[in-house]
Amino acid sequence: MPINQEQLKADSLGILRRFYGYSSFLPMQFEVISHVMNGGDCIVLMPTGGGKSLCYQMPALLSDGCCIVVSPLLALMKDQVDALIANGVPAASINSMQSEAQNREVLDLALSGRLKLLYISPERLLNDLQYWSKQIKISLIAIDEAHCISQWGHDFRPEYTQLSVLKEHFPGVPVVALTATADQITRDDIRKQLNIPDAKLFLSSFDRKNISLTVLSGYSGADKFNTLVKFLARHHGESGIIYCFSRKNTESLAAKLQKRGLIAEAFHAGLSVADKNIVQTGFLNDDIQIVCATVAFGMGIDKSNVRWVVHYNMPQNMESYYQEIGRAGRDGLEADALMFYSYGDVLSHNRFVEESGQVQLNIQKLELMQRYAESSICRRRILLSYFNERIDHDCGNCDVCKNPPKRFDGSVLVQMALSAIVRTNQKIGLYTLKDILRGSSNVEIIQARYHHLKTYGVGRHLTNLQWNAYLLQMQQLGIFEVAYNENNHLKITPYGADILYGRAKVQLTEFVKKEFVEKQTRTEAVLDLDLSATEQELFDQLKALRYIIAQQEHKKPYMVFSDKTLKAMAHERPTTKLAFSSVFGVGDMKTERYWKRFTDLIKRSI
Ligand code: ADP
Ligand code: ZN
Repeated sequence: MPINQEQLKADSLGILRRFYGYSSFLPMQFEVISHVMNGGDCIVLMPTGGGKSLCYQMPALLSDGCCIVVSPLLALMKDQVDALIANGVPAASINSMQSEAQNREVLDLALSGRLKLLYISPERLLNDLQYWSKQIKISLIAIDEAHCISQWGHDFRPEYTQLSVLKEHFPGVPVVALTATADQITRDDIRKQLNIPDAKLFLSSFDRKNISLTVLSGYSGADKFNTLVKFLARHHGESGIIYCFSRKNTESLAAKLQKRGLIAEAFHAGLSVADKNIVQTGFLNDDIQIVCATVAFGMGIDKSNVRWVVHYNMPQNMESYYQEIGRAGRDGLEADALMFYSYGDVLSHNRFVEESGQVQLNIQKLELMQRYAESSICRRRILLSYFNERIDHDCGNCDVCKNPPKRFDGSVLVQMALSAIVRTNQKIGLYTLKDILRGSSNVEIIQARYHHLKTYGVGRHLTNLQWNAYLLQMQQLGIFEVAYNENNHLKITPYGADILYGRAKVQLTEFVKKEFVEKQTRTEAVLDLDLSATEQELFDQLKALRYIIAQQEHKKPYMVFSDKTLKAMAHERPTTKLAFSSVFGVGDMKTERYWKRFTDLIKRSI
């Protein structure tokens, strides 16, 4: 019998309020809940932070029996269970990190019918299948990180391929498969492997509107580092990740930041398990503010208040980029993604790609990444179109939208650069070219007697950063090419020759040095509250209290309350229990537990 929609909506909103402290659903959540409550299987494809968990947690709370959640990552399992318990939802997990006695206890709880959600690894579930199907009333089965099923995916888990037996053992129980990454092949695989051919697909937008996108081109060395430091000053005290090209880079950058008094650590695959844990835990607990990492960092991290992500070098493809910036702003509050992009990055990646197994494919991916970095149209449009999603307007939250590029006639600059290339018989690379133009007196230039060239120093009026940017544009426009097989020497193209000899003109985009303004003066507020100075002060105090409570309760700070909740609190200043309970993200359980301490602090601050 179909369920009454009105009733379902009212019931689920009641539960949402009581257990989670939220007053409305995020896009697609209710549609999924309703489908599952009517007994349907489904595949839920939502970006990180889209609110997937509620899609099965809510049906679990609305139904009799226990929801089984299959999850591959132990750390995530524990996080989810802790968060549920903190909200007063009866949840537990069975896993290899707990003793057999503890696991037995959880089983008993499930048998008694008091457990609403049980998180379990696939191996474990399949082992005890007989037992499960006979003794316990299962309300639904959720398969988290369902892309692990696919051999084509980046995260393949062989255990996941055995899960098709679930549908045989529990024929009437709805199956919900959830993931943030699934192309068509993976989606088909999920259907096949889980034996849910008719599963309905819920595909939500992959646009993470709250993440602002910025690319800085042409920065290197000290310029780059100093710009990073300014960016970090703007994110004072806020957690973030800096992705670096190599292990060595992570360590040297972390050391340099430490010298500036910042709490930064390196993280890469070469660290011991113990060291990795220290960094990861420190970051989760807000003890370490900055992690300088290789791509290895982030898997299995569910921290909701990562406020920014920096790519200190261009990543190797759009998939990695999207995944890595996606670690910021999971709580929906505004977050910053900053990427540095330079000519050197392209060279490094090219070397890397040449040695990779799939050269052709990887070169293509690298080129698309480069196109994104060099774009002069809305970056979000490019990013989303890469994932086959189109938006019909500019986003207003990327650097291109905020500072539309200005053009000027760059023909003279091109002529300067190209005549230097001609006079050296097209046997110099980009760095030497820049040195000649800027009249540098470094050893190589003098040894090669380039300081006698007519073009030596003609470009002195421009800064190093400006030349970086303009030479990059010339290369992008096809004015010269880099001969990767000839020591990266620069070769003039026919188009370049036309400009050099005055037969054609070219427009370049004006280089604007990026200044990071202080937070207070920012005007764009995406889903966000702009706090006044006094509210900001209270927000900082609330964060400090959250930190103390987290220490006392051995929890991660964001599990006590999210940044978003604390912001709302700083803004609304509840001083009574009732007012406290109506703040965004404060449910019944957390009201009981924390209202006194927080309202006392707020009263004192008035
Ligand atoms: P995902 O698993 O898709 O990455 P989560 O389920 O972890 O996303 O949810 C992301 C964040 O959004 C969490 O902090 C969660 O508490 C919050 N959230 C989920 N549903 C809602 C809602 N209806 N209203 C407000 N916040 C929500
Ligand atoms: Zn844009």
